[in-house]
Amino acid sequence: MIGLLGLQGDYAAHGRMLEALGVESRVVKKPEQLAEIDGLIFPGGESTTLIKLMDSWDWWAPLEGFAAAKPVFGTCAGMILLAKSVSNPPQKSLALIDIDVERNGYGRQIDSFEGTGSFGVNGQTRELPMVFIRAPRISRVGAGVEALAECRGDVVMARQGNVLVASFHPELTDDLGVHRYFVEMIGQ
Ligand code: GLN
Repeated sequence: MIGLLGLQGDYAAHGRMLEALGVESRVVKKPEQLAEIDGLIFPGGESTTLIKLMDSWDWWAPLEGFAAAKPVFGTCAGMILLAKSVSNPPQKSLALIDIDVERNGYGRQIDSFEGTGSFGVNGQTRELPMVFIRAPRISRVGAGVEALAECRGDVVMARQGNVLVASFHPELTDDLGVHRYFVEMIGQ
């Protein structure tokens, strides 16, 4: 059972991807519900709004505890919440993966775009469609972090242990590869 952090943002789209893979998911709206799931997806949305909601309902410690034991996957704003350090402007984060991110790092002209990147997991590299929406840019990848996808010269998907992040929105394409990879992480 995979949880979808249901505070704000496009969590329902992740649920549809998991359904297509035959994997059950559940929207998580209260910290107590973390006990019922095997992995958690942090959706895209607006990271400042997510932070306010996490403050109001005391989500920080339960999420840290969950990620210490089970896999988590953050896309876009979800990645911002999981990154070690955030700029433009700086804001607090869970710091669960050793990357730095710049919010809205793709500039105004092309702040949202669809592209094709390279996706390399399990010893195989292939093309992957990618949707970027006011996306954060990964500006530093720590030594212990694995780069799993690239687009336009940037790392756009990365993993460190149980923590997976993507600056794009795989849930807005019809390619199930990224979600399949996260499901495999949970099975390991
Ligand atoms: N720009 C948003 C933020 O900084 C992220 C956008 C997204 O999740 N699509 O939080």
